[in-house]
Amino acid sequence: MAPQQQSAPVPFPTSTAMPPPPVPVNQPMSGQPRQRTASKPFAAPAPASAPSIGSGAACATCQKWIGGRVVHAMSHTFHPDCFVCSHCSEALEHVAFYEHEGRPYCHFDFHELFSKRCFHCRTPIVDQRYITINDVELVGNDGTGETQERCYHDMHFFCANCGDPFLDPKLANGHVRFGGREFVVHKGYPYCEHCHVSLHKPRCKGCKNPIIDEEYLTALRGKWHIGCFCCERCQHPIDSDNFFVRDGQAYDEECYKIKLRSEL
Ligand SMILES: [Zn+2]
Ligand SMILES: [Zn+2]
Ligand SMILES: [Zn+2]
Ligand SMILES: [Zn+2]
Ligand SMILES: [Zn+2]
Ligand SMILES: [Zn+2]
Repeated sequence: MAPQQQSAPVPFPTSTAMPPPPVPVNQPMSGQPRQRTASKPFAAPAPASAPSIGSGAACATCQKWIGGRVVHAMSHTFHPDCFVCSHCSEALEHVAFYEHEGRPYCHFDFHELFSKRCFHCRTPIVDQRYITINDVELVGNDGTGETQERCYHDMHFFCANCGDPFLDPKLANGHVRFGGREFVVHKGYPYCEHCHVSLHKPRCKGCKNPIIDEEYLTALRGKWHIGCFCCERCQHPIDSDNFFVRDGQAYDEECYKIKLRSEL
């Protein structure tokens, strides 16, 4: 899958922001977190020298001739008082602005209205690196088979149990280049490998360790590693199809007979 551009404006050409390589070094076990760079504002419009009265072009907002100072922005000319945020009407002549569908917006409104929001903290993702997840297990789809997408601030994409971010915090602060730790999706939430194993993998009733991707047997209302299910008396592994139970403990046939005799 190729990295996608946000629908927001193309960064100002002189911007030095470069998206990091899209593929993490450590391939996650599931899901492909993508790091992105949020959209950058356009620089404040360059002030134009005042043309003589009557020789200016028409203002793109009010359609009247511009007699005094001219603001050049978005391939148009404006009266300084007419070049304002399309949402709050703040003057944009001297500040960085954002363009959306041909209309200018102030920094605040652009992000409030159009920026992606972090799935964790729900605030707009403003001018910093962020992660996009479109793992179908984690995000689901919209019912038409279209994969949904979730965005997170770098440090807000973390294990649902221990809270450890999947990106190394030491590498953050704009220097993150590659994806971080692996994660596993369980019932729609991401977990670090350690938490996933300790929370979601069955535990062997014998050695108490998790049973991870290996054969196990079920006996005495529990799961056991092959080899951990042993005769209580001689401690030899026993066959789960052929054992005897006494006081909640398992015995092979020989030891079971000895046990019964000892109880007489
Ligand atoms: Zn005007
Ligand atoms: Zn505004
Ligand atoms: Zn966040
Ligand atoms: Zn964890
Ligand atoms: Zn075991
Ligand atoms: Zn035995």
